[in-house]
Amino acid sequence: MGKLSKSAAKFQRQKFGASKNVAKSSKSVEKRVAKDPADDRRDQSQGARAEDDGDTLYGIFKSPNIKNVQFGIDKCFPTWYGSTVYFDRRTMKLGIYHDTPSGVASPAKKKTELDTFWLDTLYVCEYCFKYTAERDPFLGHVKCCTFKHRSPGRIKYKSPEYTIRRVKGFKHQLFCQNLCLFTKLYLDNKSMYFKVEHYDFYILYQTGLHKPMAFFSKELISYSQNNLACILTFPPYQRKRLGSLLIEFSYKLSQADGIVSGPELPLSPFGLVGYLKYWSRVICWHMVNGVFADLDGATLEELSTVTGLRINDLITTLKYLQCVGPDNKIYLSVLRNWLTATENRSFKFQIEDEFLLVND
Ligand SMILES: [Zn+2]
Repeated sequence: MGKLSKSAAKFQRQKFGASKNVAKSSKSVEKRVAKDPADDRRDQSQGARAEDDGDTLYGIFKSPNIKNVQFGIDKCFPTWYGSTVYFDRRTMKLGIYHDTPSGVASPAKKKTELDTFWLDTLYVCEYCFKYTAERDPFLGHVKCCTFKHRSPGRIKYKSPEYTIRRVKGFKHQLFCQNLCLFTKLYLDNKSMYFKVEHYDFYILYQTGLHKPMAFFSKELISYSQNNLACILTFPPYQRKRLGSLLIEFSYKLSQADGIVSGPELPLSPFGLVGYLKYWSRVICWHMVNGVFADLDGATLEELSTVTGLRINDLITTLKYLQCVGPDNKIYLSVLRNWLTATENRSFKFQIEDEFLLVND
């Protein structure tokens, strides 16, 4: 893994070009096998092209093709989704093996897409996300990883429990790209893994430690004023409400910018579930405990101003909670019942303003 940095950087340069080549070649194959001119025309349609280019460009693969991830020394778990982005599509080898000295066989076997797994175990550093297919170089790297004692980026939130650091994609390209590659094994949407310089990455750590537990990315220039592009809690740290903590933090960032905001749409099915849960709690809290507690009702505009949620996201949530009448009136009694009938009555915001460092 000593050569990894140089190799991965080369991989980084090659990957986007390789993806474009694959997109081109898959289209020419479509043309070759088309027997009926009508089929040919269908393949040329905008929809067919968009789907093919999209899946290829974003490295989406139909089923998991890496069996397990060894994440740090003591954590091993299966992948959830297939992804081609770690591999050179022509050789089916990990991208890092571009620099393999001639005559030395790659440990990644040549396989076809028909095989279930292209790789049995991907070794990933839990501090910097560098990766390899071999155990020994991985162990060697972990011993001396520079991020083990010093995480990248600038602290934007620091409570006794959690620290959130902002890592600029253009400053820490390799770290951010390796993070994005890893993310694709656990997200089923068209998450980005190239052009990382267009994004900031907010990484969550336990205060005092240097192992990333979750993150979200945010576009530097978002014409829709989105406050979040992609979010993931890494498998060993799930079910600790870290996702909702980061979502809450993303709204603190837009609040600091003085804008009403929300995530990039459309959300993945998992993303939508997470957001509906969060939005429901926030709306209910403001209606029951916040400034609307003693009022009979509120308009969507008022609710949007107070919560920082976009009106469309509010409507989606209120419909989900089934508390909007045919006259578009919000039924507070339904909201209050929902809140008291579920565990959400004990809902507490997780981000504490006193620990925010967003204006630094
Ligand atoms: Zn490392």
